[in-house]
Amino acid sequence: ERMGKKCIGCGIPLQNTDSKKDGYTPKDINGKEELYCQRCFRVSHYGEHSSSFLSREDYQKELQQWVSPKRLALAVFDIIDFEGSFQDDILDILREMDSIVVINKVDLLPGEKHPSEVANWVKGRLASEGISPLDIAIVSCKNNYGMNGVLRKIQHFYPNGVEVLVLGVTNVGKSSVINRLLGKNRVTVSKYPGTTLLSTMNEILGTKLCLIDTPGLIPEGRFSDLMIEEDQLRVIPSTEISRKTFKLEKDRCIVLGEFVKLRVLNEEEQRPIFSLYASQGVQFHETSLEKASLQKENENCLHLKKKQKFCKEIFTIAAGEELVWKGFAWLSVKRGPLHIEVEYPEGGDIVIRKAFI
Ligand code: GDP
Repeated sequence: ERMGKKCIGCGIPLQNTDSKKDGYTPKDINGKEELYCQRCFRVSHYGEHSSSFLSREDYQKELQQWVSPKRLALAVFDIIDFEGSFQDDILDILREMDSIVVINKVDLLPGEKHPSEVANWVKGRLASEGISPLDIAIVSCKNNYGMNGVLRKIQHFYPNGVEVLVLGVTNVGKSSVINRLLGKNRVTVSKYPGTTLLSTMNEILGTKLCLIDTPGLIPEGRFSDLMIEEDQLRVIPSTEISRKTFKLEKDRCIVLGEFVKLRVLNEEEQRPIFSLYASQGVQFHETSLEKASLQKENENCLHLKKKQKFCKEIFTIAAGEELVWKGFAWLSVKRGPLHIEVEYPEGGDIVIRKAFI
């Protein structure tokens, strides 16, 4: 037994003799360098944390081993893609364990939205999923808004410390949240040798808190995940989202990024009013039924990763309701009801919810 080094990612003792066994690294383990095992190295450099690495079944197993009434679940959701951040295994855990919900990326919302309004809306939306967290934190990792509040909330409910199970699908900002919480005081600990390799445990120095970082998973139904990577970057917002309001007559169409098409079906005298919200990288283009086409090659076109069938579906959305394309955009009806036909690539999920904005 060698008093060797441990992987700085997962804490497993390192070895450089058997590449098939845990803790393998091809590097010199007696050198001065801080080392990752090959698995953690891949995870941190190539994002193998995501679905290519984990099947849904393995993900479920990975999460389940941490579920305990003694722990706190800290779930991270993206406010711009709230429904797109939903994943059944995560929602199930939130129904089971005490939780604090972190709503990230509020910097991307149009300015007039107050954090308490956002929190109330989230509370209602989660309640309809059967989830009632101990508290909700509205944050932006980008500018560190609200992050101290997260720590304070945890310490309020657990003055004697707790192990915190951090959950979230890819892209919601889970890593950013963890990095903000740990700050420079990062220590990887492995109190549970042998139980897991995929999650890592970090103590927040100066507190009695430990964060368990679980892997991310690409959830089902996000339109962004159907696109080529280059276009995902245009669809996932990095600056305040754009909004455009329309008052359209029958058979007028809007094409979003040559990727989704809307056709107004309301009869002439009704003229519904609605707004579209999406990343600034997505173009909304109003046109006639004859001219509206999808996947036409131009600078607005968002490209599918693989050839996909398009389907048509009719929706009726009342004033005060929204139609959401997970991972892509949403439509908010001001004067309704709006009757529309939507043409979209198969594999993406569309949901109707109570208005957010
Ligand atoms: P993870 O996949 O959930 O671990 O997410 P990451 O922490 O890697 O973040 C995913 C993307 O969202 C990255 O491009 C981040 O820069 C971005 N991001 C994270 N937090 C915020 C935030 O508060 N505001 C904005 N605008 N972007 C964020």
